[in-house]
Amino acid sequence: MYADKVLACRDCGTNFIFTAGEQEFYASKGFTNEPARCPSCRVANKRARGDGMGGGGGYAPRERQMYDVVCANCGAATQVPFSPRGDRPVYCSDCFATMRDTTSGSYAGGGGGHRSSW
Ligand SMILES: [Zn+2]
Ligand SMILES: [Zn+2]
Repeated sequence: MYADKVLACRDCGTNFIFTAGEQEFYASKGFTNEPARCPSCRVANKRARGDGMGGGGGYAPRERQMYDVVCANCGAATQVPFSPRGDRPVYCSDCFATMRDTTSGSYAGGGGGHRSSW
């Protein structure tokens, strides 16, 4: 009796599917309104208002995934926020900073001198 329905999100305009199952669920809850937002906006909204998060301010920021590596220059064990690839040496932050300072003209273009645009 229900069929999937395509709705447009009120927030981002994305089309999303209001599935037959969801319609049935809504009906069983007595809801007469169709969802106005796509699932991702719904989640974002919920999060913004802090619904369902319980009390307390113990919100832990999600940590970035870190990978254990050994510095190719000094051999120190360190961690980097990206997956190390076999074809590239990985350096600890100290060595990385040093190298960035000393090898400042390594990319094409030449004659640029000091660039600190990143
Ligand atoms: Zn949306
Ligand atoms: Zn190092």
